Amino acid sequence: MSRSDTAHASPSEATRPSSRDPHSLVGQVAIVTGASSGIGHAAAKALAKAGASVLVNHPPTAGSMEKAAAVVAEIKADGGVAAALGADVSKEEQVDAMVRETLRLFGGLDIMVANAGIERPAPIHEMSLSQWQAVIDVNLTGAFLSARAAAREFLRRGPQPNLSLAAGKIVFTSSVHEFIPWAFQANYAASKGGMMLLMKSMAQELAPMKIRVNSVAPGAIRTPINAASRDTQAEMEDLLSLIPYGRLGEPEDIGRTVAWLASDASDYVTGTSLVIDGGMSLYPAFRGAG
Ligand code: NAD
Repeated sequence: MSRSDTAHASPSEATRPSSRDPHSLVGQVAIVTGASSGIGHAAAKALAKAGASVLVNHPPTAGSMEKAAAVVAEIKADGGVAAALGADVSKEEQVDAMVRETLRLFGGLDIMVANAGIERPAPIHEMSLSQWQAVIDVNLTGAFLSARAAAREFLRRGPQPNLSLAAGKIVFTSSVHEFIPWAFQANYAASKGGMMLLMKSMAQELAPMKIRVNSVAPGAIRTPINAASRDTQAEMEDLLSLIPYGRLGEPEDIGRTVAWLASDASDYVTGTSLVIDGGMSLYPAFRGAG
């Protein structure tokens, strides 16, 4: 596969910037890490729907491989282009190899969605070093390694005005816990707080080279990562009481925002964390008070 033979792209379509639909990602190539489930799955689908060829990353573990293959099959059934690849985002050599393989498969890289993440909750006085380290390794170091590998490629190959106004786009999946403290999840909140300043520092540094760097900061989204927190009706009601908009977020709520942040429609947006939380961060406990 190459840029010129993707399912959606005709070369003429991909080379006329002025007439290009600003939401179109035709001819572009995206990597989505942790894309075999949840938000990554939805982001991969939204990017493919907009015309990008998508590398569906998953951790190199048994069950994930099958799930990633199913995501690729879904995208192909919709007429899109995708391939699955196992790589642990916390491992430098695996992330760099993932980018090399993407270039070999699709002939370029335009969009990196650093989405992979885990939770390892524990009271702070009982949190083991391995619980702390596992979350920092995947959520923060994994995001750094993915974004760095993408930035290196964007800088090496320079702007591609026939494809996009920016020379490359990086989108992190952060969380409202980049600014809301989270008891029993100090490792997770620290990883997302770190991600916020990683994103902003990279955005500041790379803007002159026309590389845009942003985050999505989801609230409570219905995915496997938090399934245990809504097992019972009471737990679900507790969660909903935190969300003024009155419903849980769906992965697609985040996926389409990722596709927007990766497109020319958001060309003047860089260094921003886009909160997508149904109002969760609007201090809902204050409703009716005062
Ligand atoms: P999820 O568990 O479905 O997705 C996480 C993905 O990361 C999984 O596919 C998993 O296989 C992958 N992953 C884990 N370790 C990896 C590794 N070492 N290398 C590669 N991939 C790895 O849950 P999700 O909610 O879709 O989570 C996606 C992102 O969204 C995470 O960064 C999470 O912190 C963030 N987030 C989720 C919510 C929510 O409410 N669901 C809210 C805010 C932020």
